Amino acid sequence: MRVAVPKETAPGERRVGLVPETISKLREAGFEASVERGAGTSAGFSDDDYAAAGATLADGASLTRGVEAFACVASPSADIVASLSPGTVVIGFLEPLTDSEGIARLREHGVVAFAMESIPRITRAQSMDALSSQATVAGYKAVLLAADRVPRLFPMLMTAAGTIAPVRALVIGAGVAGLQAIATARRLGALVSAFDVRPAVAEQVQSLGATFLDLGVRAEETVGGYASELTPEQQAKQQAALEERIPDFDVVITTAAVPGRPAPKLIPASAVERMRTGSVIVDLAAETGGNCEVTVPGEIVELGGVSVVGTLNLASSMAFHASQLYSRNVGALLLHLAPEGELVLDWEDEITSGACVARPEPA
Ligand code: NAD
Repeated sequence: MRVAVPKETAPGERRVGLVPETISKLREAGFEASVERGAGTSAGFSDDDYAAAGATLADGASLTRGVEAFACVASPSADIVASLSPGTVVIGFLEPLTDSEGIARLREHGVVAFAMESIPRITRAQSMDALSSQATVAGYKAVLLAADRVPRLFPMLMTAAGTIAPVRALVIGAGVAGLQAIATARRLGALVSAFDVRPAVAEQVQSLGATFLDLGVRAEETVGGYASELTPEQQAKQQAALEERIPDFDVVITTAAVPGRPAPKLIPASAVERMRTGSVIVDLAAETGGNCEVTVPGEIVELGGVSVVGTLNLASSMAFHASQLYSRNVGALLLHLAPEGELVLDWEDEITSGACVARPEPA
C-alpha cells in the first residue's frame, strides 16, 4: 500500500501527517511512502530524513499518482481530493462535525475518509487518539504562553531581596489539555486550582497537586466520557461563580469544550474587568469561539490591562513533537486498516466504522 504525505497548505499549519520514524515502521509492515518535497521542513524533518527512512520524494501531481492512502493533518483542498483515485483512503483532521462541505466533497469523490476526531475513545484505540495527543501539546503550550506574558515569576522564590509569591493559576476544563496545563503550571511552580463540570475529574486534578474548585455546577457525562452541554441556567450559575472567584488568579487557562458545539461561554467580560492588571487568560477553546466573552479567535486582546490570548492551533507551534505524536496516531490507524500493508476494511469493527466519515455507497 502506497501512502502519500503532502506539505500542509492551511495558513499557519506547521505539522506533517507522517514523520520519518513512522514511515520506517510502516515500511517494515509492507507500506511504501511518497512524501511531497518540503512536507516536514516546518516541523523539523528534512527531505533527507524522509529519504533515509525509505520514502520517495515527490513534487506536484506525482505525489498522489498511484497511491492508495493519503495521510494529512488538515482536510485536503478540493484540488488534492480531485487528484485522488476513488477508493483511496484519506486520513486527517477532517472536521466531520463542522466542515460539512469538505466531507461532502470527499464522499462525492468516492474516497474512503477517516477523521482522526472520530476515532472512538476506547482502550483499544488509544494509540490512535490524535485529539488527546494534540491536546496534550496544546495544554503545555498554553501555560508557556501565559508564563511569557504574565509579568510575574511562576514559582515562589526566597531571595536576599525578600520572598516572591507564586503565580496563582486556574485551569477551567480538566480534560486532556487541562490536565497537561495543570501539570505544566505545577512544574513551573504555580499554585494551581482547576474546575470541570465532570466531578469525576476532581481526583485526577488533586493527584497532579492542584486544588479542585467546586463551583457547584455539574454536567452529565456522556457515554464517550465527555461533558454534556449545560442548560442556560447552569451556565449562568457557572458564570456568576467564576466572576466571583476569578480575581484571585493571575493566570487562567480555559479548555472547556463540548464536541460539535460552540465552546461554552464561561468568563463574561465583567469577570475579565475584575482581574488584576497584568493577568493573562489563555483561551484554548478559541478554535470553537472561545470560553471567554472577550476572546477573539487568532488574536491577543487587552481589556483593562488583562491579556486574553486567543491564538489558534497551539499544537502546530510545537510542530516537531506534535507531528511525531500525530504521526504515531496515524501510523497506528493505517496498520489497523491494512495490517500487512493490504487494505482490509472490516465495517463490523468499531474503530473502522466509527472513524469513517465518507465512503462510496456499497454496490
Ligand atoms: P474536551 O476537549 O471535549 O473538553 C475539555 C474539558 O472541558 C472536558 O473535561 C469537559 O468535561 C470540560 N467541560 C465541558 N463543559 C464545561 C464547562 N461548562 N465548564 C467546565 N468544564 C467544561 O474533552 P477531552 O479533553 O478531549 O476529553 C474529555 C474526556 O474524554 C477525558 O477526560 C476522558 O474522560 C475521556 N477520554 C477517554 C479516552 C480513552 O481512551 N478512553 C481518551 C481521551 C479522553
